[in-house]
Amino acid sequence: MRLLRGERWTEWALAAKNLVFPIFCQECRRRLLTDDNGYFCATCWELMPRIERPFCTVCGRPHRAAVGLGTRSNFPCGRCIAAGRDRPVRRTYGVARYDGVMEKAIKLFKFHGKKRLATPLAELMAAFAEQELECDRYDMVVPVPLHPVRERERGFNQARLLAAEVAAVFPNAAVAAVLRRIRPTRTQSTLRDPRERRRNIEGAFAVDTGVAPPKGHVLLIDDVVTTGFTVGENASVLLNAGAASVDVLAPALAVLRGEPRR
Ligand SMILES: [Zn+2]
Ligand SMILES: [Zn+2]
Repeated sequence: MRLLRGERWTEWALAAKNLVFPIFCQECRRRLLTDDNGYFCATCWELMPRIERPFCTVCGRPHRAAVGLGTRSNFPCGRCIAAGRDRPVRRTYGVARYDGVMEKAIKLFKFHGKKRLATPLAELMAAFAEQELECDRYDMVVPVPLHPVRERERGFNQARLLAAEVAAVFPNAAVAAVLRRIRPTRTQSTLRDPRERRRNIEGAFAVDTGVAPPKGHVLLIDDVVTTGFTVGENASVLLNAGAASVDVLAPALAVLRGEPRR
């Protein structure tokens, strides 16, 4: 029995399950023989379109023109310099572009109920945070809230699952769901017009009166940052309620072309 304990037992159980209900990589369709993350093989997961240095110190987007220059120092992009300092989010960090394997993983996670993907996605976030963020800076890790009706339909809040899994990397921060979505909104990615996206989100969030108010440096967690309207609106609410600063960490960052961010 000793051999069947712990990892060996898990391997055995997975192999047995796999014989009866084979699982396949969602990208290359090859059969998964190990429980890498339940949906993608290790090779495809490695193809994740990661964001690497140099990236913008404000919006987190990679500097296309600087690719191949070998620079390891980050700097702000032209768009963020032009936008000035008046912004609720201090820094945004994304692990990978919302593209390829990452886009597929997020869609499975969020729209097809594949909750288990929270673990490998949070592992990517944790590794990125250890490399790129001042992890001991943060006092609170706060997930972007879902409207209760949406959360009931989906059965979970994806940002909350990610926040819970990644929290261990931040030694001084506790996960605190201090925000509420006070009116239903449409999924931002279904709206093309930036003005429509802004209207969809404005006034949609509030601090939960039933919990301790936000304080100190907050790390806001979302699954995908697209235009930044959602995290910006959440950050404004947090700052108005007493937070000293708000940074954002997400597994996926949409790299936009020709669209104003805020
Ligand atoms: Zn694969
Ligand atoms: Zn930028």
